[in-house]
Amino acid sequence: MLIKKAQRIQELPPYLFAEIDKRKNALKARGADIISLGIGDPDLPTPRHIVEQLKISAEKAVNHRYPDYEGLLTFRQAAASWYGKRFGVTLDPDREVVSLIGSKEGIAHMPIAFVDPGDVVLCPDPGYPVYATGTGFCGGIVHRMPLLRRNDFLPDLDAIPADVVKRAKLMWLCYPNNPTSAVASREFFRSAIRFAEKNEIILCHDAAYSEIYFDGQAPISFLEVEGAREVGIEFHSLSKTFNMTGWRIGFAVGNAELIAGLGKVKTNVDSGVFQAVQEAGIAALGEDQSCVAESRAIFQRRRDLALEALAKAGLRAYTPRATFYVWVETPKGFSSADFATKVLEETAVVITPGTGFGPSGEGYVRFSLTVADDRLAEALQRIEGLSV
Ligand code: PLP
Repeated sequence: MLIKKAQRIQELPPYLFAEIDKRKNALKARGADIISLGIGDPDLPTPRHIVEQLKISAEKAVNHRYPDYEGLLTFRQAAASWYGKRFGVTLDPDREVVSLIGSKEGIAHMPIAFVDPGDVVLCPDPGYPVYATGTGFCGGIVHRMPLLRRNDFLPDLDAIPADVVKRAKLMWLCYPNNPTSAVASREFFRSAIRFAEKNEIILCHDAAYSEIYFDGQAPISFLEVEGAREVGIEFHSLSKTFNMTGWRIGFAVGNAELIAGLGKVKTNVDSGVFQAVQEAGIAALGEDQSCVAESRAIFQRRRDLALEALAKAGLRAYTPRATFYVWVETPKGFSSADFATKVLEETAVVITPGTGFGPSGEGYVRFSLTVADDRLAEALQRIEGLSV
């Protein structure tokens, strides 16, 4: 039988990291000592108290059954309480918080709840690829909003053509930003909220990196800004904050109708997060946040080492105020893909071409500082020796 994939799958570009993995494996087979600064998956272990809670919770038979899709009330209360302490915003755990099987799950499902075929979804470019693929799965039309260095990697909302704005149903924002590492100001969020109100566009803010910030400058949440709750929803993840990428847990907060819409999709396609993982999540979001400060200090030190090495190599980097990424201009004469290939071939260091995040990523590559210190030092030493 000839098995034919659905059009929506056929149209997908190869998942960025799958392509990079293929090249990496070819080099590995030739015996190269590969160091991957490609993927944003922290090398640091999940803090001990979280792992210990999982062990206890995994023993409880009550946790072995189907969870509720929206998450344990105790988990939603813990998320609301963490949010209140961190951002000074009060949330109703019942109506304004939903648990997610990682924020990726919520991001991918959001358009199923709110985007009809032909609706436009405004996506940052460069941006996390799931905004666009989730849109495509629903027959939505992606309109890319270029994030340019001269605008501090914030989208220029006035530059979106009027006919596109008219057809737009939903807009994605992500700050601190992957891949550029930019942070948004209160003023920017204010203008985005005004834009959303005026044009009746749902604002979705991806805050997966809200806790990985530097120099004591904690980024604000989008819900801190007046009017946000009327138009928007914010996605949070325990993945990067607590080094829990493999555990698959996150949550969304904000407008109760948006939360309910997302919840309705979830009741039909998933059955929530393993309750033992949710209880470990409660431990993560609890009183003691010192483990997060420790991670931040590690990433800040790595950022400083990377910036120093990149400067020595003659490469221009945008100084990250948050995230564990460094967004670096490609040297004159190199496309993103050419430069990433040159770095891989000459140094066996994997970095991500900016175009993997959208066409406006051309002219950039992304370094991810998520390998052990000694390996990062080795990678940076190799980069310093690069002939550019
Ligand atoms: N949002 C952004 C910008 C990301 O970079 C990632 C993961 O890399 C996610 C969301 C998804 O994270 P998770 O599904 O682990 O919560």
